[in-house]
Parts: sequence; structure tokens; C-alpha cells
Amino acid sequence: MPNPPDLSHLVNAVPGFIWSAGANGEVNFINQRWCDYTGMTQQQASGHGWTASLHPEDAEGLLHYWVALMQEGTAGEYEARLRRQDGVYRWFLIRAVPQHDEHGTVVGWYGENTDIEGRKQAEEALDKVRSEMAHLARVASLGALTASIAHEVNQPLAGIVTNAGTCLRMLAADPPNVEGAMETARRTLRDGNRAADVIKRLHALFARHSVMAEAVDVNEAAHEVVTLLLGELRRNGVVLQVQFAKDLPAIKGDRVQLQQVILNLILNAVEAMREVPGALRQLRISTTLEPRQCVQLAVRDSGAGFDATAVGRLFDAFYTTKPNGMGMGLSISRSIIEHHQGELWATLNDGPGATFHFCIPLPDLLWE
Ligand code: ADP
Repeated sequence: MPNPPDLSHLVNAVPGFIWSAGANGEVNFINQRWCDYTGMTQQQASGHGWTASLHPEDAEGLLHYWVALMQEGTAGEYEARLRRQDGVYRWFLIRAVPQHDEHGTVVGWYGENTDIEGRKQAEEALDKVRSEMAHLARVASLGALTASIAHEVNQPLAGIVTNAGTCLRMLAADPPNVEGAMETARRTLRDGNRAADVIKRLHALFARHSVMAEAVDVNEAAHEVVTLLLGELRRNGVVLQVQFAKDLPAIKGDRVQLQQVILNLILNAVEAMREVPGALRQLRISTTLEPRQCVQLAVRDSGAGFDATAVGRLFDAFYTTKPNGMGMGLSISRSIIEHHQGELWATLNDGPGATFHFCIPLPDLLWE
């Protein structure tokens, strides 16, 4: 039988950190790679000494987790940043596995830490791209819509102004050119009708775009939007609380349109919270089944709120209090909700901030 390999070589050949701890959680071995990375000695690391290498923001969470794991005696893993000897922190996945004796009692722990800095950076980049896409989608669709409405309405408006000016000049002439004034007044009328036609056509366009009647689980639709925005929320320091009603019945409607509404309400909430520097940013998204047989979703923020006297205008097209706002988001959102026979409204919170709610009736009520 050949000699057994020297396990210490093996332990140091692994491209991660290997350690072991007693049943009480105190580290009694750590491999050379860990020492090379942190610049600490094995003696310094032993017991709880290794915790000095933890990022201050991760230490408390990891230590709570470690205590809970020891109580349960099960394997677990946790992501935390460890300091390299030059002061740079890198993310590691820290795994711990309990060792049992023949009675099943935990007698110690083996652990392994893998460097996941690359993965973390990729995740962060992906989050950023996702939230930029969400912004772009919103801005692009609103921008395109606004530009086309503006273009179509501008032409007849310009005609009206020119003709009205000409008409006034003809009437003010001596003697007044009544014949010419009547003709330009007719043209003014024609342009006015053209502008009204544009609005009618737009209206018809939206009306024709009838709501796709598929079953929509509002919890699931909202969950997807929230997932898309997690990076955005994290970057803005928003603490998110989600309270979804259990067994929420499906409504009938257009899932993508409803998601646009939810996206819009959340981005508005984040923007409102950014307006109050230094304040706690709390966002709560909740769903409920209302006694009047409708599914309600509420987005509650701790932001700047709005002027109570403006509540009637918030949903008007082009109403905005933001320097670069378009004031189209809430007006489009309201028309989407109304196409679902529902209602969209806003209230001011008792504390700071505002809550935007929509309620959509259940299908039975819709088809009665
Ligand atoms: P925009 O975001 O381009 O201004 P919206 O139609 O989405 O357009 O919003 C209109 C206005 O309603 C905003 O400019 C803001 O004044 C107000 N508003 C919207 N959401 C909130 C909110 N969560 N808290 C406070 N005010 C809000």
C-alpha cells in the first residue's frame, strides 16, 4: 500500500480557502492560501480572530447566520466580503458543513470559501443594464407617443394662429375686407376640426387597442416587475417590503399593460423618495382582495408626497413637477386601468410620502 498523500499539500493546492472549526464555532485550522490572501497568520485567525478580515457591513449578518447554523447543526452558505492584505475587499461564498459523531452529535465543522468577485460584478452589471432598459422602455414609448401627438396637433394649431391673425388684419382694414375675413375664418374652422380629428383618431387608436383578455395573476405580474427593478431599488438605497395577498384570484386583462402601470408607479415612487435627501426610503408594494370584489395593488412610498390641492391634476396629461418630466406616465396608467374597468387613485400617507392604488374588478363582475 503506497503512503497516504500529505493532506496539507492537498488542502493548500485547492484554489479556495479551507478551514475547520470546533463544535463551538471556534476556528482551529485555516489553510495557507487564506493567510496569503489576508496577510494574517494562522494564530491570528484561530478562534474568532478570522472575523477581523470581514467587511464591516457583512460581519454582523454572517455572525448571526453562523450562530443560527451551529444551533441547527446543518450545512449552509453565506456571501460576504473578505479583506485582502492590500485593503481590497472581494466577495466570497463561505460554505460550512457539520461533522457528526456516531450519535449524530455535531463535533466540528469543515468549511470552504470560494472567490465569487467576478460573478458578483457580472450580476451588478446585469442589474444595471436591466434597470436602464426599464427606464429606456418607459422613456422611449412615452417619448415616441408625445412626439407624434405633438407633430400631428402642431400643424393645424399653427394654421389656426396664422389664419386668425390674417382674419383680424382683414377686419381692421379700411374698409374691412369682410369677404377675405370670412374665408380665413372658414380656414380657421377647418384647422380646428383637423386638430379635433387628430385627437379623435388617437382616442380611437387607444380604444381599438382593446385589452387582451387573458387571466392575470397580479401578484405574479408585480413580482416580475419588482425583480426587474431590484438593482434600481438597491442602488437608490430603497428598503422594499412586499405584502402580497395569498390566494389572490386572477383578473382578466393585458398583463404587459398592467406591468407598465406597476413599473411606472414604482419608478415614480423612487423619484419621489430621491427628492428627500437623507430620509429613510421605504417602499411597500401590497396586494389585497377587496370586499367589493376587486383586486387592489398599492405602491406606498416615503417620498416628498404631493400638494393636496394638486391631487385632481396628477393624472392629467402633461402635468409634471419634475424638471425633465413629461407628465404622461400617470395619465397613460389611468387610461390602461380604466380599460380594465378599474380605478387608479392617489392618497397622501399619514406619515411622509404618498400611496398610489389601483383596483380592478374580478371577471365575474365584469361579465355580469
Ligand atoms: P412625470 O413622472 O413625467 O412627472 P407622471 O404622470 O408619472 O409624469 O407624474 C405626474 C406628477 O405626479 C409628477 O411630476 C409628480 O408631481 C406627481 N407624482 C407621481 N408619483 C408621485 C409619488 N409617488 N409621490 C409624489 N408625487 C408623485
